[in-house]
Amino acid sequence: MNLLIINCGSSSVKADIVAFPERKVLHTLRVEKIGKSPICKLDGIEQSLPFPDDYAALLEKLLDHFIAQTEKSDIAGVGHRVVHGGMQYSQPVVVDETVKSAIREMFPLVPLHNPVNLKGIEVAEKMFPELPQIAVFDTAFHRSIPNRGQYYAIDKDLSDELNIRRYGFHGTSHQYVAEQAAKYLGTDLRDLRLITCHLGNGCSITAVEYGRSVETSMGMSALEGLVMGTRSGDIDPGVLTYLMKQGMTADDISSLLNEKSGLLGLSGVSNDMREVLAGAEQGNERCRLALQMFTHRLRKYIGAYAAAMGGVDAIVFTGGIGENSAEIRHRASQRFDFLGAVIDEDQNRDIRLSAEQPVAAFSASNSRVKFLAAL
Ligand code: ADP
Repeated sequence: MNLLIINCGSSSVKADIVAFPERKVLHTLRVEKIGKSPICKLDGIEQSLPFPDDYAALLEKLLDHFIAQTEKSDIAGVGHRVVHGGMQYSQPVVVDETVKSAIREMFPLVPLHNPVNLKGIEVAEKMFPELPQIAVFDTAFHRSIPNRGQYYAIDKDLSDELNIRRYGFHGTSHQYVAEQAAKYLGTDLRDLRLITCHLGNGCSITAVEYGRSVETSMGMSALEGLVMGTRSGDIDPGVLTYLMKQGMTADDISSLLNEKSGLLGLSGVSNDMREVLAGAEQGNERCRLALQMFTHRLRKYIGAYAAAMGGVDAIVFTGGIGENSAEIRHRASQRFDFLGAVIDEDQNRDIRLSAEQPVAAFSASNSRVKFLAAL
């Protein structure tokens, strides 16, 4: 059975045709820089296609081109990544009108994500009316977080009235790498305490205790927690009220924290970790600070999550940075001897993940806790 998997972002579209149960990726579509100068690659090869300005029309054109790679009748369903599923969805669901309204209800919380995710569903419904559409929510894996990690310490009545909760994000990634890590270690996920670090443009970290998410660093929005490409992560709320008193509006502050902070705001150079690393190498002090803050925040969370679970068996790095940057893994894995986690620097430097080797370990032979990198 083959499934078409679609991940619609505002500036990118990713789609795969995947054979199940082998989970073998048969074809990939990657489109970047939508709205600027789109680049489309099909199975790694750049395509010259017309790119309509209208998002739905563009998506239809792309999927039409993509689906021509296979027999349409081989596809048994369409899976959609949807960022926010609110409190009610802890599992993937077949999309119906109720699910679509739930996705719409979350628009104000994730204006950059849920509207385009829904557009992807609507386009696919039109193109494949005979197929089930399945929504897989980034928030779903985190519905197991106990109340103590779901609330903010403000008036609880107000939280309940306005649905102010720590929803958490990147759940599909955290769940997937936790499963991959367990498989690699040859241990049942229900016997493991894992810390999974998803380090991409957005970054989050999750404590996965015996297979269930029990803490995660992103909260009500995808802003809380780690330092990210353009997002601030944790910040004293007092800074925000101070900025408002200085005359900044809610939109100004949202733009500051979402688009102009993180690696970009600190370095003044780029939101791209490769460029920040290169800047630091060349002696740029702001890039150095950005790197130090990125890894310091990450280390603080790793320590906190080990404490929250009363121990840890493996620390897993994934996402573009976690998979590819030996330098960041090196910096993030220092001084954890007290936890029983010791890095093997040579193994770390030699990691080259691939479909054939999606997980690799880089902990020393005397390290009780495993360090892993995973695709
Ligand atoms: P997204 O969250 O958009 O899916 P990715 O998971 O692709 O992003 O991660 C993008 C980040 O990964 C960027 O900051 C990029 O610089 C970083 N990255 C990719 N390759 C490397 C590398 N070899 N070294 C350091 N950082 C890398």
